[in-house]
Amino acid sequence: MTNHPIKVTKTTQSSLSSVDFSDIPFGKVFSDHMFVVDFDGKEWKNAEIKPLQHLSIHPGNLAWHYGQSIFEGMKATKLADGTPALFRPEMHAKRINASAARMCMAEIPEDLFLQAVEMMVSLESAWIPPAEGSALYIRPLMFATDEFIGVRPSTLYKFIIFTMPVGPYYPKPVSLLAEEHFIRAAYGGVGEAKAAGNYAASLYPAKLAKEKGYDQVLWLDARESKYIQEVGTMNIFFVIGDKLITPITDGTILKGITRDSLIQIAKRKGLFVEERLISIDEVVNAHEDGSLKEVFGAGTAAVISTVSKIGYRGKDYVLDHENYKIGPMLKAEINGIRSGRVEDSYDWVKKIAPSLVGV
Ligand SMILES: *Cc1c(COP(=O)(O)O)cnc(C)c1O
Repeated sequence: MTNHPIKVTKTTQSSLSSVDFSDIPFGKVFSDHMFVVDFDGKEWKNAEIKPLQHLSIHPGNLAWHYGQSIFEGMKATKLADGTPALFRPEMHAKRINASAARMCMAEIPEDLFLQAVEMMVSLESAWIPPAEGSALYIRPLMFATDEFIGVRPSTLYKFIIFTMPVGPYYPKPVSLLAEEHFIRAAYGGVGEAKAAGNYAASLYPAKLAKEKGYDQVLWLDARESKYIQEVGTMNIFFVIGDKLITPITDGTILKGITRDSLIQIAKRKGLFVEERLISIDEVVNAHEDGSLKEVFGAGTAAVISTVSKIGYRGKDYVLDHENYKIGPMLKAEINGIRSGRVEDSYDWVKKIAPSLVGV
């Protein structure tokens, strides 16, 4: 696991002592170090872990103009005995390369990605908040670095990993607006890539949804405004009758690792799971006949987010979210596996040695 030479320069001024783990503002607190490696057109070079610092970027940096920029989001947690652990890290390594391929960017060797993530977690292990539900959020990203104006794939790329402690996340139930005018992803587009531009494109419709009193947009397909895709940074699940249903990954939705994990857990628990097209009409009809039992989102950040209502064509479909059973059961199971309380019969949890990075 330490095949690649990675130079390590440790900080002499850790900011860890200034952080209150019982009150961490989300997305604003960064750990001490970052991993950086550069692609020179042929290979990845000068891999290095060093104190977190600003980058110096030319104004003609290709990524800023034409959008070759992709990322991942994963979490390190501590097992009951204090051992740092990652959840299915190899899935994130594969997915960033799937995103890279679609955006015509350099791919990063999976073993380099995994070694860098593991070394960062090992080095920053004191930054993993101990409370259950807390985590060290890990943000790998890659972007073009050619200094060139003109639409073409970059030759040069930078890959970075930095990390952020996040507090126990108690997600509030979310309200969704099913969106018929704006779209997130079309067939053949880049919806399946974790590409920066996808999130920029979602901001304006999300702002309009907020003005109407909804938390987030429920995206529908681009052809017929009919089939449900996903939400912001979460995949979506419905419990209708005795079935757990989630949209198929048809290239327009992100292949969530939480989604995949929940499907596997649900199947093993004996639930009927269907990955298929599901239309907004089917959901509305199921609400009206009383068979729509639960709606929840699934993603690394909140694991499972309960949906309290769905707005569609001027009408609100309110859900009995305080009496959900399957969503909370799946959440307890996945969190149990991640914390070591429930046996990891899937081999999903990767323990990290605390001393991967020498002094
Ligand atoms: C990251 C993301 C998800 C969730 O994926 P996980 O691997 O479960 O974190 C879902 N949808 C979108 C659009 C995302 O960006």
